[in-house]
Order: sequence, then C-alpha cells, then structure tokens
Amino acid sequence: MQSSTAWGPCSVDAKERLRRYLEQRRDMGETELLLDSMTVEDAMRAIGAIGTASAAAGREELIEVAGVAWREVLTESAPVTPGLATRADSTGLFDDDIMRLDSLDAVRTAVSRCKRCGLYKTAANAVPGEGSSTARLVCVGEAPGANEDESGKPFVGAAGQLLTKILAAVDLPREDVFICNVLKHRPPGNRNPLPEEVAACSPYLVRQLELIKPKVIIAFGTFAAQTLLDTKVTIGKLRGLVHQYHGIPLIVTYHPAALLRNPAWKRPTWEDVKLARRILDSPDRA
Ligand code: URA
Repeated sequence: MQSSTAWGPCSVDAKERLRRYLEQRRDMGETELLLDSMTVEDAMRAIGAIGTASAAAGREELIEVAGVAWREVLTESAPVTPGLATRADSTGLFDDDIMRLDSLDAVRTAVSRCKRCGLYKTAANAVPGEGSSTARLVCVGEAPGANEDESGKPFVGAAGQLLTKILAAVDLPREDVFICNVLKHRPPGNRNPLPEEVAACSPYLVRQLELIKPKVIIAFGTFAAQTLLDTKVTIGKLRGLVHQYHGIPLIVTYHPAALLRNPAWKRPTWEDVKLARRILDSPDRA
C-alpha cells in the first residue's frame, strides 16, 4: 500500500527524477552545481543515490568553504604555465630607510608610526600584517577594511574568515603563513587606494617580502596582483599562471571578498590555491 504522507509516492518519484537528472549531468562531465552550492557527487550522496566509499580514493578531501563542498585530489601533475616576471631581485629598488629595517618587528614599528601619506589621519590603527617570520607562503591583499582598521590585524572580517578557510583547505594553518596588504592603513570608506598612497607604502611590502623570503606569494585580487607585478593586465588573464616576483613564484587569484559576491569564482580560486600548494610541496632549490 502506498503511503499518503508528504514523503509518499510523489517524493519518491521526485527523488528518482532528481537522481536521473544528476546522473545525466555527471555523465555529461559536470562535477559541480554552482547555483546549488553543492557538487553533483554530494547531491547524489545526500539523496542516497551513491555511497560514500568513492571519496576514499587517492588523497581526496571534502572541504567546506563558504558553504560549498569541494572534493578534490590535491596532488595533480598538470604542467604549470609561466606568466609575468619582475626584475630578478629587489636590491636597490628604493633608496629608503625602510629597506634597511632588519626585522619584521622593525617594519611593524615603522608602519605604526608612518606618516608617509595622509591615510594615518583617518585610520584607527595601522595594519602591518601578521604571521610567521619564516612563512613559506605570503598572502597579499589590497588594504585593511573596517574590521582590520579596528583590530590592527589583516583579514579578520568576513573575507578574512573565508581566507582562513581557503588556507586550511590546503593544510595551511593561518599562523603558518604571513598575511598582509599592499596598503598598511585603511582608505576612508574602503575607497580605492591612490597611486601616491601605493608609492608611499610599497617599500614596507617589498621589505617584508625580502625579510621573509617565502617560497610562494599569493596575490589576492586585482589590486595586489597588478601592484606586485607592475602591470595593468586583468585578473582573468593573470590567474592560472606562475609569475615571478623578484625571483619568487607568485600566484594570482580572486579576492575572498569577490568570492563572497560571486560564487562562480570559487572553482578557479580553488585551482589557483592548489597550484600554490603544489609549488610549496615541490622540492626546494639547492
Ligand atoms: N581586504 C583586504 O584586501 N585586506 C584585508 O586585510 C581585509 C579585507
């Protein structure tokens, strides 16, 4: 006898139809339901159409970032494509006392007293950056926002929390990396940084990168990417490549704040972050 509840024959039919529809999409090569914030595999698993055993193959991970389950194999061997390269090193780039600061703490102190542009007047706190002085990965964003201005720490608002999850998804605890911005003070109302502000602030970032000597840099967002690579090329063309910043591999990807607005960029961002992870995992040069 058929049940007359809401979960009776009708819903079984619907479940069956959904299963067939998902199978069809999977057979067509689709792995992701972007609008539904769920992969096809996960949706099928949710309706009981497949078991969980397939997730065990290889080094697969079920990663929940911003409400999207990303199941991926982290170890891939696709060739990397070289991108832009700045000059081989930053020696003599600026004739500035900042370039003679001998530690990250010294940079921090200098940033906290900085009056090289007018931004210190409207900011509550300087945001020099934070993390390990021996970090193998440095993440560079644009400029502090309201939360960062209030706390003096980079990437602590909604975008920052997403960044922390993205890093964790490739086994990088936030405290193991160094996180900073091109600008060390917040532009009022989060307006775009002005060229003279970037010029005034740039020696701090250059010196931080010289002192840390990371194995990889990730530039999050157009602004960080274009500033570090000294280019006007769009982010869509810069991402997916391995650039060289003064001899250090640099990956460009979307800014976490942009991902919160546009979930379709999560997939390419994930590819970019995995690329950075692959470089980190590659043997160190002698
Ligand atoms: N956006 C950035 O670019 N940097 C921060 O620190 C926070 C938000």
